[in-house]
Amino acid sequence: MKPGKVYLIGAGPGDPGLLTIKGRDCLALADVVIYDYLANPVLLGYMRPDAERIYVGKSRGKHSVPQDEINQLLVDKATAGLNVARLKGGDPYVFGRGGEEATYLHRNQIPFEVVPGVTAGFAAAAYAGIPLTHRDITTSLALLTGHERPERKLSSLDWQKLATGLGTLIFYMGMTNLKMISEKLIEHGRPVETPVAIIQWATLPRQRTLTGRLDQIADQVASAGIKPPAVIIIGEVVRYREELRWYDNLPLFGRRFLLTRPYAQAAGMVALLQAQGAETICIPTIEIAEPTDWSDCDQALARLSDYAGLILTSANGVEAFFGRLSSRNLDLRALAGVEIIAVGPKTARVIEKYGLKPDLIPQDFRAEGVVEELLASGVSGKHYLYPRTEIARSLIPDRLNAAGAQVDAPVVYRTIAPQGKQEMIRHLLEAGELDAICFSSSSTFDNLQAMFGDELAKLKKATDFFSIGPLTSKTIRKHGFEVALEPAKSTLDDLVTAMVEYYKNCEA
Ligand code: SAH
Repeated sequence: MKPGKVYLIGAGPGDPGLLTIKGRDCLALADVVIYDYLANPVLLGYMRPDAERIYVGKSRGKHSVPQDEINQLLVDKATAGLNVARLKGGDPYVFGRGGEEATYLHRNQIPFEVVPGVTAGFAAAAYAGIPLTHRDITTSLALLTGHERPERKLSSLDWQKLATGLGTLIFYMGMTNLKMISEKLIEHGRPVETPVAIIQWATLPRQRTLTGRLDQIADQVASAGIKPPAVIIIGEVVRYREELRWYDNLPLFGRRFLLTRPYAQAAGMVALLQAQGAETICIPTIEIAEPTDWSDCDQALARLSDYAGLILTSANGVEAFFGRLSSRNLDLRALAGVEIIAVGPKTARVIEKYGLKPDLIPQDFRAEGVVEELLASGVSGKHYLYPRTEIARSLIPDRLNAAGAQVDAPVVYRTIAPQGKQEMIRHLLEAGELDAICFSSSSTFDNLQAMFGDELAKLKKATDFFSIGPLTSKTIRKHGFEVALEPAKSTLDDLVTAMVEYYKNCEA
């Protein structure tokens, strides 16, 4: 059998946006993905869903898989004809043992490619605001390991050269030996006041940066309790950080939010929050399920041409309706002549994905807005189709029926509470690790409430509850909780803008 190919891929330092396009493409074609501790697991989202994933990094209390075994695993998988993505933190050829893996592959006649990645030192510098070289200050740069190996002692490095012959120094894996590193450099001629930056978890919202003088930094690190993974940048260029820092100045940097929508729908909000520097955790408190009975919907689908309008009030409703349309062997032509009404721009966007343009989006992005504008255009004698969730309010059918229209409102999806998520949320709340939970619908709150019952009040502690709009807020208040924030307009963009304002005011 022809062997598969192994791609040694640099995953970048943590921020998933720092994976290269080539790296992403290789991940997408792989049959097996072998990844370790420093590669952001979010990147596994680029894999084919049926691809095998193998974790070889260290986990709590356990050692990582020995390098020989990883090498052999790569060879075995490729020999079996599989294409292998070997995802490694940062760049594969910078302190990543990528060289050993490539040599082993070569010796076993396995074809391979190396996809470079953004190495942690470079990324840390960029995100901390430190230009690694600067015409006025330094023209050279060295990457070093601060890790001691029995056969090659750190203390035997040519400290003289490092101390005086080079400009900027970046140490990887140097945290345990920081004291020794700084002492050696001083001993061999680096000035004691040389600035140093320690950057932990670079490029991630939990990034921490500490700066100090070479003679004091080890003690500062010890008292601040900064642990690996971190890089150490030593040199005059560190002074630029004061002016050039940008990442940890982002308005929501260091804040952590829980989003409670299903993953697929949280993506937009995640991107908005991350752009403001926030860390987001998605644990859906709702899951979308099929209705228990499709017969109402199917009857409506069989006579679509009878309807004057199709009213869609959520992204889920759109997906469920068009999904059913297609599974009944119908296509968009069945909707010719039917006016399409979308409750707001987000719903409209999902409709457009299916190749249709809504005819009406009300000014007020709520069921009330839909009703108002339809009533203004005259509904008497008209037939409307309103595919909805099981627990939707009856406002639209009630008001339109009262005005002489006829509304069919078949259930096209249900929201249910997913199993096994309680413990994760409980842990986050108990640890006080969340700044706020964002609720984007009444049911996201209802399900959280259902998960914890009366215990929720106790667990909540300092965590704020943010709501997308008046209805969700009402549900939250009904259970006796305070709504810390509700945007003037019920869109995700407005919620994120309001969050930025909220924390600005908190600090003031
Ligand atoms: N191949 C990797 C380096 C692996 S060695 C690369 O090119 O980045 C592991 C060391 O990398 C850690 O001890 C730490 O010094 C550094 N490192 C990796 N990711 C990091 C991150 N997000 N922030 C700070 N340091 C990181």
